[in-house]
Amino acid sequence: MTNEVLVQAQDLCKYFKIGGGRMLHAVEGVNLEIHRGETLGLVGESGCGKSTLGRTLMGIYKPTKGKLLYDGKEVDLSKKKERFAFAKKAQIIFQDPYASLDPRMTVGSIIAEGMEIHGMYDEKRRRERVAELLDIVGLNREHANRFPHEFSGGQRQRIGIARALAIEPEFIVCDEPISALDVSIQAQVINLLHELQEKMGLTYLFIAHDLNIVKYISDRIAVMYLGSVVELAASDELYANTLHPYSKALLSAVPIPDPHKEAQKQRQIIDGDVPSPINKPKGCAFSSRCPLACDKCREAAPQLREAAPGHYVACHLV
Ligand code: SF4
Repeated sequence: MTNEVLVQAQDLCKYFKIGGGRMLHAVEGVNLEIHRGETLGLVGESGCGKSTLGRTLMGIYKPTKGKLLYDGKEVDLSKKKERFAFAKKAQIIFQDPYASLDPRMTVGSIIAEGMEIHGMYDEKRRRERVAELLDIVGLNREHANRFPHEFSGGQRQRIGIARALAIEPEFIVCDEPISALDVSIQAQVINLLHELQEKMGLTYLFIAHDLNIVKYISDRIAVMYLGSVVELAASDELYANTLHPYSKALLSAVPIPDPHKEAQKQRQIIDGDVPSPINKPKGCAFSSRCPLACDKCREAAPQLREAAPGHYVACHLV
């Protein structure tokens, strides 16, 4: 990992129009930097906006407000040419390896499609690249002529990874890439992603709800709640010195492999449900569930600020 910022969100917001002229605030004022060569883990309960943020950072969604910068320059997704150029640098690996591959296309065509769209190589070289990519992700070259339904979940995810790598991106959003896989296959896919990062210098945003896996794979971790980042720190620091009440509750739910320690652990239960992203509470978004909430919390939203070197938190009481 380097200190060079590759992807940057500045006050990034993504809203969706829903019926009755109302807006769903999926991502709200996110400020985030992802360094070249690092894996930034992104965690939070389902519906907290992790996937929407991931898709906004790699250009599938155009931000409603705020800026997306890549390699120091603003990416204007309203310009077709710029959107197209950015699509070559940033790719995504989807959660569901069953739904994300076109069942009518052969594996070879699926992997080659991006190269064709971006005018990369002639047909012969594209076929060679497909064979190389199948080798890289641990599949056989003969698999190029088969269809997705002939593969297991883990193999399909490998095809998804080969497709993402085909156009030689620098930044990959891994959107819960192992959640739909059998536990025995999960470690293989994680190790493959790790090896590819080392070999190719890739930068990952790794979205997941399994906090043990996120800790294992990430250099730094961002915790999201109701569309905003509430804590961000290096992986070890976040687990050893958790500051935000929501992160504390989230991490206390992670099972410890030692049964003795697990039995002694105090689990913090968060009462209530996540508020609606259509009618967000005034002040701190976590105030309706936070055991420490005070009047100030219900009045003013805390800003994300550096509480210790490299450790950012959005809480009035920290
Ligand atoms: Fe809890 Fe207040 Fe901190 Fe929000 S600002 S997390 S309500 S203590």
